[in-house]
Formats: sequence, C-alpha cells, structure tokens
Amino acid sequence: WFRRDLRIDDNPAWAAATQERRYVVPLFVFDPRIMDSIGPYRRRMMIANLQALDYDLAERLGGRLLVHTGDPATLVPQLVQAWSVGGVYWNEDVSPFARRRDAQVREALAALDVPVHATWGNHILPPGSVLTKKGTVSRVFTPFYNQWRNATWDEWPERADVTVLDEPGEFVPHLDAAPPLFEGPNEARMRLERFLSVIDRYDTDADRVDLAATSMLSADLRFGTMSARAIFEAAAGDSPGRTAFQRQLAWREWYAHLMHELPSMATRAVNEQYDAIRWRNDPSEIAAWKAGFTGYPIVDAAMRQLRETGWMHNRLRMVVASFLVKDLLVDWRIGERHFRHLLTDYDTSQNVGNWQWVAGTGCDAAPYFRVFNPVAQSKKFDPDGAYIRRWVPELAQLDGSSIHAPWDAPADALAAAGVTVGDSYPAPVVAHDEARVRALAAYKAAVGEAGDAEGAGDAD
Ligand code: FAD
Repeated sequence: WFRRDLRIDDNPAWAAATQERRYVVPLFVFDPRIMDSIGPYRRRMMIANLQALDYDLAERLGGRLLVHTGDPATLVPQLVQAWSVGGVYWNEDVSPFARRRDAQVREALAALDVPVHATWGNHILPPGSVLTKKGTVSRVFTPFYNQWRNATWDEWPERADVTVLDEPGEFVPHLDAAPPLFEGPNEARMRLERFLSVIDRYDTDADRVDLAATSMLSADLRFGTMSARAIFEAAAGDSPGRTAFQRQLAWREWYAHLMHELPSMATRAVNEQYDAIRWRNDPSEIAAWKAGFTGYPIVDAAMRQLRETGWMHNRLRMVVASFLVKDLLVDWRIGERHFRHLLTDYDTSQNVGNWQWVAGTGCDAAPYFRVFNPVAQSKKFDPDGAYIRRWVPELAQLDGSSIHAPWDAPADALAAAGVTVGDSYPAPVVAHDEARVRALAAYKAAVGEAGDAEGAGDAD
C-alpha cells in the first residue's frame, strides 16, 4: 500500500513485500477526506508522481498501480479479500490523521487474520528511535542532532523480483492542464544533481532568497519519490556546506520524532501556557497577508510566490510566519492552515513544528521576544531586491536602497519608479516597531513574568 513513498527503489515496505511474496498488488487509495482538503499544487504533484510510479511499475516490472477511491478502513480489507492477499505492507507515517487511519485498517485486517508488516521508510531513522536517557525525544534540537548523527542505521531490505499485478483499477487521473508534469524519481534525481553542484556553498548561500542555493527536494521527501537516506548519502562529506545541509535534514527528522511522540502538537501549543495568548485575528489583515498586500515588500513577494507556485524559501517562511503571528498577532494555526492548503511540500509534522517554532510556542523555539524585523531580513537576505522585483512587479523600478521599505524612500526615487505608497502599492498594514511592542505585551500577559526576558530584540 503506497502512501507517501511513491518509489520502488530504496523502499523498505516494497522491498519486504517483494522479498516475502511471489505476487504483489501495488495499491494506492485516493481517500476523499484527503483529496477534498488538499490544495491545487499538492494535488497536481501527487497525481504526477502517481503517474510516474504507474509508469515505472509498467516499464520495469510489467505491472500497474491498482488505484481505488474510498475510505481505506473499508477499502483495504475489501481488496485484500478480493485478491486473496496474504499480508499487507506499508511505510508508517507520523501524522495524527494517518495514525488513526492505520489503526482502523489494522483492526479490520486483524479481524480477517491478515498480518500487517509496517516499516519506517520515509525518514532516515525511525521516529521514536533517537531518545534521551529518560526515553523521550529531546525538546532541544542540538542534543537530538548529535545523537541522531552518530546513530547506526537499521538495515533496509533489497527489493526482489516478483510478479506484479497488472490491473489499474480506476486508473491514475489525468492532469487537466497541459503540459503534463514529469515528476517522480527521475525528476528528483535531476534536482539532486543540480543541487550537488552548489552544495559546497550551502553554508554561506542557503539563506539568500535571491539565489537558487537550496535543494528544492522537500516535495520529493514529502511524496517519497526519493528516500531521505539516498539524499543524505549523496550529500555525504564534511565540508561546511555539506554539514549544514545534513543538519537541515536532521530538523526534518526531529520534527517527525516530536510529532510521533506528541500528536497533540498538531493543534495545541507544545508549551500550553501560550494557548492563553489573546490573538487579534483581524480578518482584513489576514486577507492582506494571504494575498501579499501588507505593504512590506519581502512579505508580499513571498506570499505571492506561495500563491502562484506552491513554494516558498525557508527564510521567507520564517519571515512571513513571524509577521503574521507577531506583527499582526494572528493565531499560528491560521497561518499553518493557509500553508497546508498551498504548499506542495506540506507535511503536518514539518509545518506544525516550524509554525510553533516561529510562534515561540513549540520545542527549542525562538524565544517569543525575538521578533523578525521584515525590513532588516529583506536587506540581509535579498540585498539588491532582485527577489522582490520578481514577485512584486509594481516595485520593479525601485532601486536597491528603496525597495525594502518604500514608505521610507525619498520622494524622487518613488516618483522615478512610478510608485505611490498607499495607491500603486499599499502602505504598511502595521508599523513594525509598534506591532512588536504590542506582541511582546500579549505574549507576556499569557505567560506571566516567567516569560519576561532580558535582551529582547530582533531575531537574526
Ligand atoms: P533545503 O534547504 O535544501 O533543505 C533540505 C531539506 O532539509 C528540506 O527539503 C527539508 O526536508 C529539510 N529542512 C530544511 N529546513 C527545514 C526546517 N526548517 N524544518 C524541517 N526540515 C527542514 N518543510 C516541509 O517539508 N513541509 C512543510 O510543510 C514545511 N512548512 C514550514 C513552515 C514554516 C513556517 C517554516 C519556517 C518552515 C517550513 N518547512 C516545511 C521547512 C522548510 O522551509 C522547507 O523544508 C524548505 O524550505 C524546503 O526547501 P528545500 O528542499 O530547498 O530545503
């Protein structure tokens, strides 16, 4: 049963099934509860990746992906009976939804006396395997990272030759727009190859939002078109760039470990006292944030890129999330939901973990009094404004010194660029300095004096 592991190589569940059985039925279930809630970019990527998997199964193994729509808790047992299946194989998932679903499927299969063989194939190390002496996941990243880095990998089986069922069921749907996407493991490998040519500059360049200095592999990790182990192995080495990249992969592992242990973090603050914050949740400000019309060019560029492509750079995800939560004092769950709808690489553990980190409510989170200054971030990580110009065309003619804060720009620079703040481009929806003070007060009111902190200032 393929879920978030849309590949046949380097896939422990597929390998175990092909090792232990002579005939294999490769199944994918479209669950209406998922399909009704995923946004356009993830849906498109999912279908393209399923087409690639179906193609691979046909070309290399002479089979087809069996596709059906329905609730897996009833569908999987039905198919098991229809095809006289002797065992069901899947790779585990950490999201609370997936775990509830899988528990129901397990129960139904147990009633039929059909064994389930579940493996961990979506991460480098199984969630729940890197624990402190107390037997829990470290709430601080660096100790987790040090332990994770030195852990031995459990061995994954190799896939064997089997007869694969040649029955497509309902077929993978066609994509409605031309040209089709060619996704799947081949495209993932091309992305990895491109990235390996710049990986040794990752430590210095990865935060620059105007450069293509990151791997762009997050959606491949999300759909499992390439395993996290294969990516880690390709990035092996101890140059500063390679080490920095490996560390980012470890953040992904850490958030998966945390969600596995703390499923409640999907909806509740890890540090529960923060659930007492009195959010403002102003609808028109939320709408301005979503649409990319806040008057802060770096925020607007990033939000428009998200809306138009389903993608956003990590640095910008931090900047826009901080802006929503701190500057606009909006509940992080509202931002998390918007990202969930639009991100191609959306992953519950990663999205929730990062939103809680930015909001200061989660594990090893940025202390709440460290607030990102959108103008300083813009100057630092998009120094010439090239990124802003690409996504906010109405500011394209502004020079590099004016583009980060147009409301502060000299009148002649604005006139020369054809920009009128408050007309051709919005005036800032809030003044950052005032909003920052307001956010600190709201947080402090929720957490009490214990949260009072020295060294309050802007985040790096
Ligand atoms: P690279 O810089 O090439 O990093 C390589 C891989 O390391 C990434 O693909 C990712 O798997 C992992 N990684 C990098 N940064 C992080 C991080 N901060 N946390 C966890 N893993 C990381 N990532 C998702 O995959 N899905 C999400 O839904 C998601 N939501 C996010 C929401 C917010 C508010 C923030 C701040 C970050 C979020 N991230 C999420 C993490 C990160 O932004 C993306 O993984 C990254 O931008 C993907 O680009 P890349 O593959 O080029 O990254």
